[in-house]
Amino acid sequence: MRRCIKCKGEPAIDLKSNNTAFCKEHFIEYFLRQVSRAIKKYNMFSSDERILVAVSGGKDSMALWDALLSLGYNADGLHVDLGIGEYSTGSRRICENFAASRGARLYILSLEDMYGTNMREIVRRTRRVSCSVCGTVKRYLMNLVVQQKGYRVVATGHNLDDETAALLGNLFGWQEGYLARQYPHLPSTHARLPAKVKPLVRLGELETETYCRLKGIDFLADDCPLARGATSLAYKELINSLEEKMPGTKQRFLFGFWDRGRRNFTDTPVELKECSLCGQPTTAGTCLFCRLMQKAGLDPLIQPQVQEM
Ligand code: AMP
Ligand code: ZN
Ligand code: ZN
Repeated sequence: MRRCIKCKGEPAIDLKSNNTAFCKEHFIEYFLRQVSRAIKKYNMFSSDERILVAVSGGKDSMALWDALLSLGYNADGLHVDLGIGEYSTGSRRICENFAASRGARLYILSLEDMYGTNMREIVRRTRRVSCSVCGTVKRYLMNLVVQQKGYRVVATGHNLDDETAALLGNLFGWQEGYLARQYPHLPSTHARLPAKVKPLVRLGELETETYCRLKGIDFLADDCPLARGATSLAYKELINSLEEKMPGTKQRFLFGFWDRGRRNFTDTPVELKECSLCGQPTTAGTCLFCRLMQKAGLDPLIQPQVQEM
C-alpha cells in the first residue's frame, strides 16, 4: 500500500478511485471534507438548522451522525426499533450507546410498544415485498416525529454505492419519475413533510466502514434479516467490477448524472391531499401506511410513543 499523500505516514486506507492513500488523521479529515462538500454543493442545510438523522445502527448512518456532530451541526438521532429479534435489539443498543457517549439526543420508536407487533409479522400479514412495507412504515413514522418535534430536515446514510446502484437500476428500468427524483437534496413538498438529504453521497461503503473503525464507532455489520436477495446487491457487484477495472467510474456516473443527465427527466407533479383516515399528506384517497396497517389488522391511528433520551 502506498503511504499517506499528505504526510507520507502509515497508510490507513488506499482509495484507488481517487488515486490516493491516507493515514488515520488525514483520512478522517478527508471524510469530513467530503461530507461538508456535499452539504454545501447540494445546499442541504445551514449550520444553525436542527437536523434529524435516521439511524439504523449500521456503518453508514452511524458514520453520518458522528460526522455531522464532528462538523458542529445540531444533529439529533431517530431510530425505529422494528422488533426483529437480535438484529433489532443490537441495532437499538448501538444507537443508544452512541447517543449516551456523545451526549446527543436520540428518539426511539418501537413497533412492539406502539402496535404490539414487529416488522416480520406486518410484512407477513400484508403479503408485500418486505423492504417496501418497511420503508413505507419507517418514512411515515419519521414524518410524525418530524411534525411532533419540529424538524425541517431528515438526513439518511445513503452512500455513493447505494446511490450508484439505485441510478443503474432506475436506468435499466427507464424509471423516469424515479430518475427525476433521485437527488441528494429533495426539498419539502408540503408543510408537514421534511426536506430529505443524503450527506454521504460522495463516500462509499469502504470509506464509511473505515471511518467507523478508525474513530472507534460501534456499528452492526449484519444485514437486515428481512431483506433477502435485494436486487441492489446485484447492481453493486456489477458496478464494483467496473470500478475495479476503471477507477473513478462510480463518481463519474453518479455526479455526471446529477450535473448533466438528470435535467432530461421530468416528474409529473402530483397534488397532495389529506389521507381520509389519518389526515397526513398523500397522493391517494387513503395513504399507503393506513392501507398497509389495515391489511395487517392494526390501527393506523395509534399515536406514536416517542421515547427520548
Ligand atoms: P437501508 O435502506 O437499510 O440501506 O437504509 C437507508 C437509510 O435509512 C439508513 O442509512 C438510515 O439513515 C435509514 N434507516 C434504515 N433503517 C432505519 C431504522 N430502523 N431506523 C431509523 N433509520 C433507519
Ligand atoms: Zn497523513
Ligand atoms: Zn393515512
